[in-house]
Amino acid sequence: MKGERRIEGLGVSPGVAIGAVFITDDNIAVPEYKLEAGQVGAELQRFAGAVALSVKQLKKLKGKSNTLPGSASEEVGYLLDAHLHMLGDSRLVRGVEKRIDAEHINAERAVMDEIAQVAESFAKMGDAYLAARIEDIRVVGSRLVRNLTKTPYAAIQNLPEGTIILAEELTPADTALMDPRRIAGFATVLGGAEGHTAIMARALNLPAVLGVTGLLGEVESGDVVVVDGSEGVIVVRPTAATIARYQTKQEVREREQRQLNRLRRVPAVTRDGVEITLQANLELPRELEQANEAGAAGIGLLRSEFLFMNRDDLPGEDEQYEAYAALVRGMDGKTVTIRTLDVGGDKASPALAKLMPVDGNPALGLRAIRLSLKERRLLDAQLAAILRASVFGPVRILLPMISSVSELKRTRDALAQAVRRLKRRGVKLPKQLPPMGVMIEVPGAALAADALAAQADFFSIGTNDLIQYTLAIDRGDESVADLYNPLHPAVLRLIQFAAEAALRAKKPVCLCGEMAGDPRYTALLLGFGITDLSMAPSNIPRVKQRIRAMDLAAAGRRTRAIMDQLDDGRIASLLDDFNSLA
Ligand code: PEP
Ligand code: MG
Repeated sequence: MKGERRIEGLGVSPGVAIGAVFITDDNIAVPEYKLEAGQVGAELQRFAGAVALSVKQLKKLKGKSNTLPGSASEEVGYLLDAHLHMLGDSRLVRGVEKRIDAEHINAERAVMDEIAQVAESFAKMGDAYLAARIEDIRVVGSRLVRNLTKTPYAAIQNLPEGTIILAEELTPADTALMDPRRIAGFATVLGGAEGHTAIMARALNLPAVLGVTGLLGEVESGDVVVVDGSEGVIVVRPTAATIARYQTKQEVREREQRQLNRLRRVPAVTRDGVEITLQANLELPRELEQANEAGAAGIGLLRSEFLFMNRDDLPGEDEQYEAYAALVRGMDGKTVTIRTLDVGGDKASPALAKLMPVDGNPALGLRAIRLSLKERRLLDAQLAAILRASVFGPVRILLPMISSVSELKRTRDALAQAVRRLKRRGVKLPKQLPPMGVMIEVPGAALAADALAAQADFFSIGTNDLIQYTLAIDRGDESVADLYNPLHPAVLRLIQFAAEAALRAKKPVCLCGEMAGDPRYTALLLGFGITDLSMAPSNIPRVKQRIRAMDLAAAGRRTRAIMDQLDDGRIASLLDDFNSLA
């Protein structure tokens, strides 16, 4: 039996989980159906798309395998090359195409049938080398089927309590399916610390480690593992002593958590008496209770993408209205900032897949407000639903990925039209229409902040994307995660410039990127004059504790000193030094 093994990755969601493993990639359901005569061409295209995606994934894994120690790197690289070869102009690919064409069966079924036949003919040859290749062909087949079905890991549901999920990659939509009462934590080979899968893990309070090279080769379903999301460590087949050590760590964290929860009812006031607004970011409606329990002053960012995930149809106006109304009512008079749809990049929606081009760079493509303005029925239904929900309490409308004033103006026109349409329908609307604000998350928007501040009702600074686009670092790519630096002087200057533009124009400014929820950055952000921070509900107590220990005037002085620096290392030490003093 193999012994204990420790593997490092990116700790993206804190906490410790210990449990039996479920490997999603081994558990895919294969749909089977016949095609109509006119569907064959499209099915062949769908198959070609899955082959292309599989090649892309394998190349990415190959790049990562170079970092594996010693001979492991060579072995894994060799295996991945073999897989890539099978997806070239191979018997497997040609065989599947022939079956789709001749038998009019769906691509998944054709892949499974072809693999069964290849395996059978290899087995008959009685050659040990070929027999060993059968397993590789099956693994490639599973990848193809996974990429064809695109069904998020439905198998994630209904697992025994305490299960730990391991996968090559999980999308935010897959993660949203995890029930924290059953799933204890998860780990993946691919994925960065600031992508939406990481954000979803934090929202669900699930310990998670991403970017774990060599993870799946080490583990089998049913093995016990420890996921340490605070340190970014996976321990496979831990010994009794290791389990005991991690159980102690779990207990310490729970004790700390209980102590922090005592801060729930006390105000977020600095030592020199300035009150700071701490709001909650919501990924999923089920976090509402947590937001209220954490004492959130409102919802500073409702990511409305949850309504579009894991489904093939689009939510209509009524369905959206019900969802928003429940949240507005649930916040009991506290403001709810609803962001319009922000799909694209790493946030996909099967229902919208047809509208989004597959080629090109998704981070720079038709996404967020660009998609909403192009597909007006999406925007119109969402704005109408938000307007209707706003009779139950204060609501603000937030627009994602704004890069120019004209996008804001066009959305304002759409809002005015939605108001007129609702009035014609005799729908009740509030006396005061919801304010409309913009995300500052594109460097161009930050640099044009004075122009935007003149037109927008408020700003919300999205540092997750602002850092990604300013430094050209894919926030979801683990291989460049070490370069993703919130303290880069370029990032800080853009935040400062945008915040000051809003303050000059007397427009409210909130910061809702992940930086807001990390107490390390609180002094700096407050020093910029930002007094409204929105974060995952679980981070509110920690940030509040930091605020209550801090003198705002001193934080302002330290921020000014930091902004005189050009070196990010020096910036970090000035900030950490200030944090250790106060
Ligand atoms: C951001 O980009 O900082 C942000 C809050 O939006 P999201 O993380 O949803 O892209
Ligand atoms: Mg963003």
